[in-house]
Amino acid sequence: MAEGGCLCGNVRFVSEGDPKWVAHCHCSSCRRHTGSAVATFVGFERGQVTFATPARSVYSSSPGVFRSFCNHCGTPIAYEAESAKGEIHLYVCTFDEPEQFVPQAHVHFTERVPWVELHDDLPRFADTGGGTPIAFGPKK
Ligand SMILES: [Zn+2]
Ligand SMILES: [Zn+2]
Repeated sequence: MAEGGCLCGNVRFVSEGDPKWVAHCHCSSCRRHTGSAVATFVGFERGQVTFATPARSVYSSSPGVFRSFCNHCGTPIAYEAESAKGEIHLYVCTFDEPEQFVPQAHVHFTERVPWVELHDDLPRFADTGGGTPIAFGPKK
């Protein structure tokens, strides 16, 4: 079980069981939603995550894509999409103990900001990560 929430505490959630995956997303929509160079997600089945409060607002950033955030402090909370039906993707660093979710991959790596240099050995995917990585590790 892992607990997390937004900056002001109005949104709190609990996840149960192991996540399906943990990954860094470099896509431009995630970057803009978080204001950060990289958004690090943990993916769960929707039923694994329980919200203690209804304080989320939802913004549809493109058809079938729903990004939620705290309606008081604005902290990004979740990504849900019709293309990943039944899943909820939470931001690792909204958890109280983010160190427990260790990233396994970079996705949408080709969209990254050019000055982002990462020295881990994780696979880099051009898309959401179902297929063959374009690279492993920092070497070009
Ligand atoms: Zn909040
Ligand atoms: Zn993304």
